[in-house]
Amino acid sequence: MILILKNGCPESVMTELTDRMQELGYIVNPIIGVEKTILAGIGGQEHDKVDAIEQLRAHEWIDDVLVITRPFKLVARDYRPESTVIDLGDGVTVGGNDICMMAGPCTVETEDQLMTIAAEVARSGAKVLRGGAYKPSTSPYSFQGLGIEALKMLRHAAQTYGLKVITEVMDPRKVELVSEYADILQVGTRNMQNYDLLREVGLGSRAVMLKRGMSAKIEEWLLAAEYVAAGGNERIILCERGVRTFETATRNTLDLASVPLVKSLSHLPVVIDPSQGTGRRDLVAALSKGAIAVGADGLLIEVHPNPDHALKDGAQSMTIQQYRDLIPALKRIASAVDRGLPLN
Ligand code: PEP
Ligand code: MN
Repeated sequence: MILILKNGCPESVMTELTDRMQELGYIVNPIIGVEKTILAGIGGQEHDKVDAIEQLRAHEWIDDVLVITRPFKLVARDYRPESTVIDLGDGVTVGGNDICMMAGPCTVETEDQLMTIAAEVARSGAKVLRGGAYKPSTSPYSFQGLGIEALKMLRHAAQTYGLKVITEVMDPRKVELVSEYADILQVGTRNMQNYDLLREVGLGSRAVMLKRGMSAKIEEWLLAAEYVAAGGNERIILCERGVRTFETATRNTLDLASVPLVKSLSHLPVVIDPSQGTGRRDLVAALSKGAIAVGADGLLIEVHPNPDHALKDGAQSMTIQQYRDLIPALKRIASAVDRGLPLN
């Protein structure tokens, strides 16, 4: 940590600030220049000092505080240089050399709908079946999901076609129930900072996919992941699904730059959701290709046999044929960036 002091800072205040930094675990070197005086602190980790740093920032004689180490620890690349590979069993991994394809409807509607999609996406190389059982809805009057019935259908479809299951959990009280049916617990964009939920999924052993909050900075997203890891569960997959900007031509602005950036800051795998990311099915293929090119470890894609009649997110759901057609191109891009995309 570096404290840049205001001009004319009295010596008594410098002593007081030096003492405070030492109290926080730093070895302090004062650098007294012609124009500026700096207190350089070394040896301290900043991840547990967020409040103290904010207090220093507000000090009347401090011009600026520069933080050198990161406020997160367990999820940081500095802490674990090797990339984390999440093993879902039966040879399915996220974060290894192979791109992990996750596909399915936005929301589980009927047994028929789910079985049709599961069969098709499995044939095209998907390893994980997605489908909402508990849906976060902006309006309390729109469809909220089929709940436990949907969880059962997901498990059954996945078992039939050799897939793993990812589904969203919104309520800390439902984590245990959803964990019985799901291989990956999805924490949605609206819940990225639901700390009770993060703590709860952090206590379990089910893999967690943490979506980026729609207005979350990268650091906030990684700190949310840190909550899960701090609870003991380090099986975390990050998912970029677009953020809110001034642009309204797409549902969200898909931040593909976050992939290489987050992968440099963290050892966790990163997946892209181009469906929520664009809100438009005609853009999903292009963004999927881009995602693999920039280093994403997987894709989470909405697919529906009849998107125009889907209960949720039809506009951004690919048809089965569109999904099928996309795979060979993704495979070529994967191989160009030295990744695999095995077909079943
Ligand atoms: C979804 O995956 O259908 C979903 C609701 O995602 P998000 O939380 O990113 O909006
Ligand atoms: Mn959706």
